[in-house]
Amino acid sequence: MRVSSEQVTPPVTAPGASALSGVGLADTGDASTAGARGAVRLTEVSKVYKTGRTELLALDRVSLTVGDGEFVCIIGASGCGKSTLLNLVAGLDQPTAGRVEVGGRRVGLMFQEPALFPWLTAAHNVELALRARGVPRSERRAQTEELLEAVRLGGFGGKRPHELSGGMRQRVAMARALAQDADVLLMDEPFGALDAMTRDLLHDELERICAERTLAVLFVTHNVREAARLGDRVILLSSRPGRVIDEYSLPRVGHRRIDSPEVSEVAAQLTDKLREEMGRHGR
Ligand code: ADP
Ligand code: MG
Repeated sequence: MRVSSEQVTPPVTAPGASALSGVGLADTGDASTAGARGAVRLTEVSKVYKTGRTELLALDRVSLTVGDGEFVCIIGASGCGKSTLLNLVAGLDQPTAGRVEVGGRRVGLMFQEPALFPWLTAAHNVELALRARGVPRSERRAQTEELLEAVRLGGFGGKRPHELSGGMRQRVAMARALAQDADVLLMDEPFGALDAMTRDLLHDELERICAERTLAVLFVTHNVREAARLGDRVILLSSRPGRVIDEYSLPRVGHRRIDSPEVSEVAAQLTDKLREEMGRHGR
C-alpha cells in the first residue's frame, strides 16, 4: 500500500491538485477545493463554543468531502474537534461559519457506547428505528430480521442488551444505524471500548456491509491502525482548533489485515505525523 500524502499536504495550491478522485480538501481557506460533489460536503466550517464569556474555537475552516461509497477516517488528538465535526454533519449542532451539506442523504449515527434501550430486546431496539422512519408495522419484523442477519446476529433478536457481549451490542447499534436506511454512516470511535479481537472482527463486518450497501462513511478514531485498516482516505486534524493538516489516500487493493505490513507502515507514518503535531502544541 502506497501512501500519497505528499501530493496533498496543505497548502493545496490549486483545486484538483491532489491525486484524489472526486475529492476536494484543504485547510487553505480556498472553498473552491470542496467543489466536487460528495455525499458529505463541508465548506470552510468553523465552530465556536460560547460558555459564559469565554469562547472556544473548536474547528477552524474545515473543508472536506466524502464521496458516495467512500470510507473516510478522521484522526486527531483528543479534544481536536472530531466529535464536533460529526455532530455538525449529523445536524445535531450548527456551524458558526461555513456550510455543511449532505445532499438529501439519510444519515445514520454510531457512537462508542451503543446506547441501546436496556429494557428492549435487540430486535425491538432495531425496530424502533424502523418505526421512527415510518416503516409500516407489517414490514418491520422482516426488515428487523434482515438487519440483524446483516450484522450476523440472526437468532439473537430476543436477547436484551445485558445478555449480549460488548461486540454484539455494537452490532445491534450498527443494525439500528442501518435501519435508518442510511446512505451516510457517521461513526464516532464506535469500536473504542472493545477488545482488539472483537474490533478486528467488526472491522471485517463493517467493510463487508459498506461494500454491500455503497455507504459513505465518516469514521472518527484516534487509533491510527484502525484508520489505516479501514480508510480509503485518512484525514488528520490538528490539535485544537481542529484544522485539516494532512490527508492520506490509501488505495484499496483487496482485504487489509490490521496486522499486515502495509497497514503497519501507514499506521507508523500517521503516528509520526500526529506526534509531530502534538509536539508542536506541547502536549
Ligand atoms: P474530540 O472529539 O476530538 O475529542 P470534541 O469535538 O469533543 O473533541 O471537542 C473539541 C473541543 O470543544 C474540546 O475542547 C471540548 O472541550 C470543546 N467542546 C465540545 N463540545 C462542547 C460544548 N458543547 N460546549 C463547550 N465546549 C465544547
Ligand atoms: Mg470525541
